Amino acid sequence: MLPNDEIVYLKGVGPSRAKVLASELDIHTVGDLLLYFPFRHIDRSQQSTIATLTEDCGYVVLRGTVSNMQTVSTGKYRERLTVDFSDGTGSIQLVWFQGTKWVREKLKPDVRYIIMGRPSVFNGQWQMTHPELEADTAVENSRQPFLPVYFTTEKMKSSGLGTRAMARLTETLVGCIAGIEENLPQEVIDRYHLLSRRSALIAIHYPESLAQLDAARTRLKFEELFFLQLDYQYAHTARQQHSEGRVFGHVGDIFNRFYNEKLPFPLTGAQKRVIREVREDMRSGHQMNRLLQGDVGSGKTLVALMCMLIALDNGSQACLMAPTEILATQHYNTFLRMLDGMGIGVELLIGSVRPADKKKMKARIASGETRIVIGTHALIEDNVQFADLGLVVIDEQHRFGVEQRSKLWSKSIPAPHVLVMTATPIPRTLAMTVYGDLDCSVIDELPPGRHPVRTYHRTEPRRPHVFHFLKQQIDAGRQVYIVYPLIHESEKLDLRDLEEGLAMVQSYFPRPQYQVSMVHGQLSAEEKAFEMQRFKEGKTHIMVATTVIEVGVDVPNATVMVIENAERFGLSQLHQLRGRVGRGADQAYCILMTKDNLGGISMERIRTMCSTTDGFQIAEADLRLRGPGDMQGLQQSGMLDLKLASIVDDEPLVSATRNEVHDILDADPTLSQYPTLQRHIAHSKNKMLWGKIS
Ligand code: ADP
Ligand code: MG
Repeated sequence: MLPNDEIVYLKGVGPSRAKVLASELDIHTVGDLLLYFPFRHIDRSQQSTIATLTEDCGYVVLRGTVSNMQTVSTGKYRERLTVDFSDGTGSIQLVWFQGTKWVREKLKPDVRYIIMGRPSVFNGQWQMTHPELEADTAVENSRQPFLPVYFTTEKMKSSGLGTRAMARLTETLVGCIAGIEENLPQEVIDRYHLLSRRSALIAIHYPESLAQLDAARTRLKFEELFFLQLDYQYAHTARQQHSEGRVFGHVGDIFNRFYNEKLPFPLTGAQKRVIREVREDMRSGHQMNRLLQGDVGSGKTLVALMCMLIALDNGSQACLMAPTEILATQHYNTFLRMLDGMGIGVELLIGSVRPADKKKMKARIASGETRIVIGTHALIEDNVQFADLGLVVIDEQHRFGVEQRSKLWSKSIPAPHVLVMTATPIPRTLAMTVYGDLDCSVIDELPPGRHPVRTYHRTEPRRPHVFHFLKQQIDAGRQVYIVYPLIHESEKLDLRDLEEGLAMVQSYFPRPQYQVSMVHGQLSAEEKAFEMQRFKEGKTHIMVATTVIEVGVDVPNATVMVIENAERFGLSQLHQLRGRVGRGADQAYCILMTKDNLGGISMERIRTMCSTTDGFQIAEADLRLRGPGDMQGLQQSGMLDLKLASIVDDEPLVSATRNEVHDILDADPTLSQYPTLQRHIAHSKNKMLWGKIS
């Protein structure tokens, strides 16, 4: 069979199973099935018995017979099915909560079964819930030394497509598959002693040895990373060669006047460097696509403002897009303050603007009267037209979807320059892979006079001390945040937690001496803005909030950040939250409240937070603890959808593929010598690249 043949024609599939494979796993062709890799293998020379089970033995395979089937009703339409399974050395109870009817009909005494799963001890007895289960004959008939184990869904199991059935299909398939073409350049295969694509795809299902399995995985990881690199680097090269950009050739009156008369403090060296880098980009003749990474509080907003003034100096408009109305409003106020008296038209375009006002605003944007527009995604509604949009700045980029950004891009011809700002530092290894086609600037220096935030870990018994400390700070004129986690399953429950918290805070900090604000996701934008404003103006002392305040909010007088249930937050979120304080000259504090006995990873996160304030170190720790697939934003974007390779664990392969792709594109930018790679680019699913987006 050939890879493009429909799966329905593979022996053992048929129309109904083909349907299930399509709906459950998106498998339509035999090629798709070949790319459905097992998540582990059973070494047939390693037999387990019930007598030798241990609590940490993990996934095991057992052979034996069933007896003593029992069902217990556990509610309307719900039941629990248990069966004793014995292999002559002992017995283990098998348990099902779902699909019980199907299991009950299928299980027969006198038949030998093979079961697979993770045993555990429950009430002093061995138990296995929802094991994979097959009649033993299928396994006996296979002559493979290693049997693949596939992930299957409940629906697949009840359609007779358990892992053993899947294995029978792949075994049939590897016996008859033809036409698997090599897709890596031969010189690369030779240089790294890689298996051929064909051998690797067969061996990853049915290896002859562990060494061969390893070689197959390496080859397929290499391929995966190679094409990821190719997508990014090709887009980067192509953009540099083709993307025409407006030329912002000079720095003029507006910028200089601001610099000489308005700048409230000297720029840090890092801010100066980044502005220079952006200037170089904007006058190069190519469209700028730059990522600006800078830790919370490093002064990105000012950099954005000054870059926007360069656009204005060259006759263009500029806009700044923020993820929330609170942030957009805050930026707007900052801009108004900084640009006061310069006669520059600045507008705030957000969802809550009255329709009539919005209409007028849009007219002023379209006529060019408005020079700077600040807003949320309302900015990219289709009917917002600019006279001449020259620069787009996107704050906290991970909050924006890919689609939204590409809309902005189409607002102007030639495409506007784009500066994307993020306070979620991305470890270098990852940045080079993920943002391979974006140029990168880093603000690695905080404004002078900042003291690092002191971070402490406290548990419930110490709460009186913590509150006492808050009181001292407030009495000294400072303000305080108390943040509660959002638990996505139930917004109502979140609100209850928050309200209980508020009640507790209010009883300890009674009115009228102490004023408390509360902000959460169920308030309207206006209500949120109102509460934020009161806090900002110092009218309230304590801000009790869910994570809506996470990003960007700037209240320099706030000196304490208390994070409740801190164990429920991820590292980058904790870091973001902590960044809300320590923005003024006073010493700031972050207090992580947790329950008493924390698990290993939670404890590690808390420890990391207490030991460093460096965003990059925290990002590295985050990557180590969670793996990159989880990193904020990347997950949403699906940018790192890797099946086998890991950016962290396979760093040598990441570097190797990056270099190989670089050399290939360097010597042959159009890939004229590499028809296979050209074809890949033409069909690439990775169309949504950062460069094209923005
Ligand atoms: P972020 O990078 O987190 O967006 P902001 O732009 O909000 O940081 O800046 C944080 C604070 O630092 C603001 O109050 C800002 O006015 C101040 N700031 C920015 N640049 C400087 C500087 N060069 N010197 C002193 N303070 C600065
Ligand atoms: Mg900011």
